[in-house]
Amino acid sequence: MTFRSILGSSAGVSFRDALLQSLAPDGSLYVPETLHPVASGFLGKLESASLQEIGEETLRQFVPDIPGQKLQRILNRAWTFPVPLRHLEDGIFLLELFHGPTLAFKDVGARFMALALSHFLLREERHATLAVATSGDTGSAVAHGFRSVPRVAACILYPSGKISALQERQMTTVGGNVCAIEVEGSFDDCQLLVKQALMDPELVRVRNITTANSINIARLLPQIAYYGWGIAQLFAGCRSLGDRFRPPVIVVPSGNLGNLTAAAYAKALGFPIRYLVAATNANDVFADYLHTGSYQSRTSVQTLSNAMDVGNPSNLGRLQALFHHDIAEIRRVIRAYRVSDAETLEEIRHTRERTGVVLDPHSAVGVCAARRHLRASPGDSPVIVGATAHPGKFPEVIERALGQPPEIPGPLQKALQARAQSIRMPCDYAALRSLILDLPYPD
Ligand SMILES: *Cc1c(COP(=O)(O)O)cnc(C)c1O
Repeated sequence: MTFRSILGSSAGVSFRDALLQSLAPDGSLYVPETLHPVASGFLGKLESASLQEIGEETLRQFVPDIPGQKLQRILNRAWTFPVPLRHLEDGIFLLELFHGPTLAFKDVGARFMALALSHFLLREERHATLAVATSGDTGSAVAHGFRSVPRVAACILYPSGKISALQERQMTTVGGNVCAIEVEGSFDDCQLLVKQALMDPELVRVRNITTANSINIARLLPQIAYYGWGIAQLFAGCRSLGDRFRPPVIVVPSGNLGNLTAAAYAKALGFPIRYLVAATNANDVFADYLHTGSYQSRTSVQTLSNAMDVGNPSNLGRLQALFHHDIAEIRRVIRAYRVSDAETLEEIRHTRERTGVVLDPHSAVGVCAARRHLRASPGDSPVIVGATAHPGKFPEVIERALGQPPEIPGPLQKALQARAQSIRMPCDYAALRSLILDLPYPD
C-alpha cells in the first residue's frame, strides 16, 4: 500500500492501481502515504548523478511494483532529451524543461506515465483506453507520449477553435493509436465528456478506460527528478568555479500546481532547496490563499501564459495534504507572486535585451517573479526558474513583445508539415461513447 486518497475514505492502493484509476473512488486525488528521504550517501555525490539516476533513486520508493532494472529502462527510454541548467544572469538560472518532443515540461511526466502503463498492461496481457481533455499543452504531450505505445489507444478531446493552430497541429499529426477529437464546445465540455466516459461502467469493463491529466500521480512523481537534476548541475557548476554551494530558491510558473507539488516533494525528499516560489499570472487563487489563509476558487481569465489559466488548481489538495493542512507550514516553504500580461511582455523584452535569451510567456512569468523575489529579499541564495516551454510554441506573443517572431524549432516545423487528422464531433456523450468502443488498439 503506497498511495492514499486525500479524503481518506478510499483504501490505500499500489502505484499500479493509482495509475490505472487516476482518481480515487472517493473522488479525491491519490498522494504518497509516506515520503522517505533520499539516502544521504546519494545526495552527497549528487553532482555526479545523471537525470535518469536521480529519477531511479527518487521514484523507486513509489513504484515497488516495477522491478529496478525495468524502471531504469523505462527512464532511459522516456527521457532521451537534455534538461540543461542555463545561467541567465547574476543569481538567476533557467532549468530548461522544454527540450522534449512537444517542447514543454509535460513531456517528462507524460512519457514516463505512458511507458509505466504499458509495462503493467503487457505484464497482465490487458489493453487500456486513455481519454484526455485538453486546452493545449497536455494534449500534445500525451499524444506524443502515448504514440505507438503497445496495448494503449488514446483519444484526446480539444475544444474546436479554442486552442492555438500550433497546438492543434501537434495533436492531430500523431495518428496511429492516438485519435484527436475536435469537440464542438468549450474546454469544460470536453472535461465533462471525459468524466462521463470514466464513470461509464461499460467503458470501464470493456475498454479499461483511464485518463492522463495531472490528477494522475504517475505524471507528477517523475517531475521530482528534474529538480534534483537542476540542483546537481548547480552543485557541479559551483565546484568547477570554486564557489560555495548554497541551496537554491526554486521558482515554478504555476497553473494546476502539479509542477509546484513535485518541487515540494523534492524538498520533502531532502534535496537542498531553500524555499519555493509559485509564479502565477492573473489567475492568482493560490497567492490569495497564501495571503488570506482561506481558499476561494474563481472562474479563470484568459492571459498570455494560457497554460496557467486555472481558476481551481487541481493539485492544491496535494500540497495541503503534504503540509498537514496547516497554512503556517505552507507559508514557511512557499511564497507566491502574481505577474500581469503587461509585465510578462516587458520581461520577454527586458531579458532579451540583457541576455539575448528569448523566454516563452510562462517562463517569463517565472523570471519576473524571480526578479521581484530577489528585490524583496536580497540574499545569497541562487534562484532556479523552471522554464516550462519553448518560445517557438507561442509565436504571436513573442512577436507582440519583440516585434519579430521566434525561431520555430525542428519538431514544430515537422508538425506543421505533417498530415493532420482529427474527428469532429458534437458535444454529445453518445457519439463519444460509440467512437471509443470502436477505437483500434495498436497491436
Ligand atoms: C501546464 C503548464 C504550466 C502549468 O503547470 P502546472 O503543473 O499545471 O502548475 C506552466 N507552463 C506551461 C508551459 C505548461 O504547459
